[in-house]
Amino acid sequence: MKLDAKSMRYLTGEDFRVLAAVEAGSRNHEVVPTPLIVQLSGLRGGSGVHKSISNLAKINLIARVKNAKYDGYRLTYGGLDYLALNTHQKQKSVYSVGNQIGVGKESDIIVVAASDGSQRILKIHRLGRISFRTVKTNRDYLRNRSTGSWMYMSRLAAVKEFTFMRALRENGFPVPEPIAQNRHTIVMSLIDAFPLRQISTVGKPALLYAELIAMIMKLARYGLIHGDFNEFNILIKEEPSPDAKGKAPAGSEENNDNVRLVPILIDFPQMVSIDHANAEMYFDRDVNCIKRYFQRRYHFTSDEPGPFFAEAKKQLKANPGKRLDVEVEASGFSRKMARELEKYMKEVGVDSDAGERNDSEEDPDENEDDNDYDSSDVEEEQKEDLQESGLESDTQKMKELKVSDS
Ligand code: ADP
Ligand code: MG
Repeated sequence: MKLDAKSMRYLTGEDFRVLAAVEAGSRNHEVVPTPLIVQLSGLRGGSGVHKSISNLAKINLIARVKNAKYDGYRLTYGGLDYLALNTHQKQKSVYSVGNQIGVGKESDIIVVAASDGSQRILKIHRLGRISFRTVKTNRDYLRNRSTGSWMYMSRLAAVKEFTFMRALRENGFPVPEPIAQNRHTIVMSLIDAFPLRQISTVGKPALLYAELIAMIMKLARYGLIHGDFNEFNILIKEEPSPDAKGKAPAGSEENNDNVRLVPILIDFPQMVSIDHANAEMYFDRDVNCIKRYFQRRYHFTSDEPGPFFAEAKKQLKANPGKRLDVEVEASGFSRKMARELEKYMKEVGVDSDAGERNDSEEDPDENEDDNDYDSSDVEEEQKEDLQESGLESDTQKMKELKVSDS
């Protein structure tokens, strides 16, 4: 679904308290009974609360569940978005919401601004969405899914991404600056660059290739494997090379030699420890992804085989960096959380961009429409879910919207 922040500024403090009450109730109730919402909101059960409830339902932040034995509501993705956005706004990590620049299988990427006008990225994790193109194989999973699980899994993905991004950043890896995390969202610095996927020519492919392989090896030295190291998750910044000062502007085709391409790594929900049971498979997949891409796109083939997992392990022993896989466990992303998230991502088949993407060279822009699920097999209840989460509505371009100040 797309984030539609336009109702944000019309919501009152009471509305947000009621919304938070539905969220809190969802932890133990699939459908939160209305009296419980009133109680959890801490507001007096007058007409005000009921007015808030009907307001929130009208703008699809909560959904009335009709067939339940009792009258009740559940939180929608939109509702969770608003709660997160409200917190980001209060904590001054987000001031206004701009354009959506990406719709991934399991995330939405939105440009937001801080109060000083500087641009940032809001990444909203949407693990419950799964790929509707594979809805048949995921049907059993969908049937069993509960409100609690998509909220929880999306939050896990956000916590993981934020924790890893922070650890990487603190240790000098070229990643965005992590700014804030709340619920299923993170705020990070905007990297003014295109994904490698959109770079059609590279002046010195050998140089960039070597840098990317060095990054994989350095990650391993710090105990980590990215797990989805591909041309979508590497952003390429163009910087003037040190010896090119005063020459023609960077970026123009003829001046490729005067431009240094600086790779920035993003997208961390699937990172694994180098001690993971399948570490070698993930490591090889990362290396081969880059190899294949450089061969196909830039017709560059490295003279050297590998690097192989055994070398990465050897290097880790000889010259260990800080063990970031251990550090993240201590700083908020436990082994149990890692297992839960990994199991979920496997079940719904979203553990890497590589698994699903269209490999045709003619189609470098991967902005496919995500709405083409096969509805014939989706049960009624799931269809309602889709409607209510906004997935059925069409791609509505967002305008610059100010988030209310209250
Ligand atoms: P997903 O998990 O859906 O693949 P990503 O984190 O890879 O999400 O982001 C999807 C796309 O959004 C990226 O390929 C990139 O184009 C853009 N993007 C993500 N984060 C940033 C950022 N910090 N700065 C600029 N662009 C970004
Ligand atoms: Mg990605």
